[in-house]
Amino acid sequence: MTLKIGITGGIGSGKTTVCKIFELLGIPVFYADAEARELMNTDKDLMRQLAVAFGTTAFSASGSLDRKYIADIVFQDADALRLLNNLVHPAVFRAFDAWVTNQRNAPYILKEAALLFESDSYKMCDYSVLVKSPTDLKIQRVMQRDKISAADVQLRMDRQLSDDQKQPLASFTLINDEKQLLIPQVLKLHEQFISMNPLLA
Ligand code: ATP
Repeated sequence: MTLKIGITGGIGSGKTTVCKIFELLGIPVFYADAEARELMNTDKDLMRQLAVAFGTTAFSASGSLDRKYIADIVFQDADALRLLNNLVHPAVFRAFDAWVTNQRNAPYILKEAALLFESDSYKMCDYSVLVKSPTDLKIQRVMQRDKISAADVQLRMDRQLSDDQKQPLASFTLINDEKQLLIPQVLKLHEQFISMNPLLA
């Protein structure tokens, strides 16, 4: 069985950037959030469940999901958000399981998820990595990347667990503060994960 490593971090922490470095080292990465967006428009069972939960108005005439419509609903309604997650997360778990079975030759694989700890999906991984950055840097990065205000970044941050809450659940930590070099930290973890694979040790 392939070693499964979950990787997470707050908005703008740089988890996708870190995953791209692992990909350069040949490590397969499953991007759970991108997969969730994809499945909401391709998984027929999930689309049917979403139509029952949110009404057919959540879909355009061409059949694609109106993500803004759903986002506006769940942003203001915690029950609706829970319902959405209860439908989408199992679909992503199924897609991940299917994907993992095709990665037998990899020394280990990564699952990148913003809500790794919030969704309990870290429990399906062998280890987890938390990418940490100072809050002001995360805000600056997301403002620049998404062209949104600091207040809007803060609103998104408020919906995630803080680093202090995530830290006790993380097996490993990467510091992406643009002071400590990132690539050597990734290389060190890569070597550790390789040495944990009994077939390669
Ligand atoms: P989100 O949860 O919002 O998807 P993320 O944690 O995946 O965010 P990234 O998209 O990897 O974060 O990084 C956020 C932005 O900050 C990107 O534009 C990225 O290029 C930039 N960034 C991340 N790390 C660094 C770094 N060490 N040096 C310079 N820019 C960085």
